[in-house]
Amino acid sequence: MISSGTSFDRTTERIRQEALHPEKWKNPNPAELYDLVIVGGGPAGVTAADEAARRHAKVALIERNRLGGNCLNTGCIPSKTIIRTSRLYAEMRNAEDYGAKVPGEIAVDFAAAMEHVRSVRARIARGISAKDLAAHAVDLFFAEARFAGPDSVAVDADLLRFKKALIATGARPTAPPIPGLAEAGYLTNETVFDLTERPDRLVVIGGGPTGCELAQAFCRLGSQVAIVQLDPMFLSQEDRDAAQILSEAFERDGIAIYLNAETVGVRVEGGSKLIDFVQEGNTITVAADAILVVVGQTPNVEALNLEAARVEYDAERGIRVNDFLQTTNPDIYAAGDVCAKPRLMDFEPASSRLVVENALRSARKRVSALNVPWCTYTDPEIAHVGIYVREAREKNIPVKTFTVPMHDVHRAICDAEEDGFVKVHVREGSDRILGATIVARHAGEMINDVTLAIQSGLGLRKLGSVIRPYPTQAAAVQMAANAYSPGTSSSGPGRRKTRQPRAKRARA
Ligand SMILES: Cc1cc2nc3c(=O)[nH]c(=O)nc-3n(C[C@H](O)[C@H](O)[C@H](O)COP(=O)(O)OP(=O)(O)OC[C@H]3O[C@@H](n4cnc5c(N)ncnc54)[C@H](O)[C@@H]3O)c2cc1C
Repeated sequence: MISSGTSFDRTTERIRQEALHPEKWKNPNPAELYDLVIVGGGPAGVTAADEAARRHAKVALIERNRLGGNCLNTGCIPSKTIIRTSRLYAEMRNAEDYGAKVPGEIAVDFAAAMEHVRSVRARIARGISAKDLAAHAVDLFFAEARFAGPDSVAVDADLLRFKKALIATGARPTAPPIPGLAEAGYLTNETVFDLTERPDRLVVIGGGPTGCELAQAFCRLGSQVAIVQLDPMFLSQEDRDAAQILSEAFERDGIAIYLNAETVGVRVEGGSKLIDFVQEGNTITVAADAILVVVGQTPNVEALNLEAARVEYDAERGIRVNDFLQTTNPDIYAAGDVCAKPRLMDFEPASSRLVVENALRSARKRVSALNVPWCTYTDPEIAHVGIYVREAREKNIPVKTFTVPMHDVHRAICDAEEDGFVKVHVREGSDRILGATIVARHAGEMINDVTLAIQSGLGLRKLGSVIRPYPTQAAAVQMAANAYSPGTSSSGPGRRKTRQPRAKRARA
């Protein structure tokens, strides 16, 4: 029997609640007219409120639940914390790879791991508290917001009039119409971090970033995990070679992988949940104690009365925005997960700052001009920025790729973290960087070099001339750069030998 949300440390939860939605909060009296009204207090809304207040705009922020949204409460923060703990257990099990031996048996304390997740979340919550926002001259309302017209929002009995508004209401987990699933009961990212007991057998439905991250984390915390993915590979938007490395890592961890598999039904028998899926014409059944469903997010648009605001939306894809993040009502913007976007991009803070510039300063900043890196925090991590080769081909952009396998990187060898590669794409005939994919233990950190280079217009040659401490795993980026020389005709895995950056002299 899996318990959730009943027996964990209430003090930690009280701290979080007090920071993100204080019990005795009293909504302020509304101003006559706001420069900016923001609906939704997730990362997109809070960043915009902060930014607008710093520019001395009269700003109101409306949140119906807790500040911090998905990211803090049910997304980035709890998932990254559980990943860290699970990594530690994996390292203990693989101690011999590091020339070490763990004395005795490794027993996972799942309840302690989850309590740690919640205490980290509470600690970070204190940094974005309701009181701090109010102290920074943001009028903070806790209520459900509903547009009353093209320039006003109803909040309880009050009407907030605005010059500009931002919709940042985010999204919630999509519930797939799988027969029997609702009756059997399932976890989502909204409930999984409340667990206090480990599900000994867990089936994860969905092989996108969240499904992959949590499948690996739970496996490393001792659950027997099966992951079922509709597509033929994990992380469908990434390159095939990157996804393949992830599949191999999952196999080593002991995760049962079902790709190209469609879940068709769920039953409960003898206390077990039986998940039926079809793979290559065969029906396969897996038994589990819990099912985690992570098949995407549905935008929170229904409650907003968007018709009154003249804002067009699609109930599944989200609010329609142009390149300036304006909706069909040019005085109303949208940012974050509520927007209809061509693909998942985690860039709420950057898009919120863009909205504040465009809305309050009449700027014309384009969202398409942002360089947005992203990362899936599995082990190894998979990070990407810029263009993929397949996209370049579609656009007839000639590209040349420089690849460095991590097993050629001294620091990766020292760290026993040799899985993966760095792949940098430049425009053929130049050293202009168009994109990069990094698969490595610390890919999320390593991609920053390339993002900075793209953003500042630094070419691959310049990137190669940066002096770095030796040895680092980020040297792989430099090795890719070193492989570049003007007139290089081609380069790919194994086609051109890359040089390790020169070893540093002895430390003083
Ligand atoms: C498990 C998981 C892990 C993730 N990990 C990462 C990661 O590592 N890195 C990363 O960049 N992204 C990650 N993400 C994605 C990230 O959490 C979201 O992209 C981000 O939270 C979106 O921010 P947002 O402000 O647009 O919306 P949300 O965070 O969803 O916030 C929207 C807010 O609006 C409020 N709201 C909704 N409707 C109304 C209304 N009518 N009136 C008032 N308030 C309303 C909601 O209560 C909510 O607080 C992860 C997501 C998940 C699920």
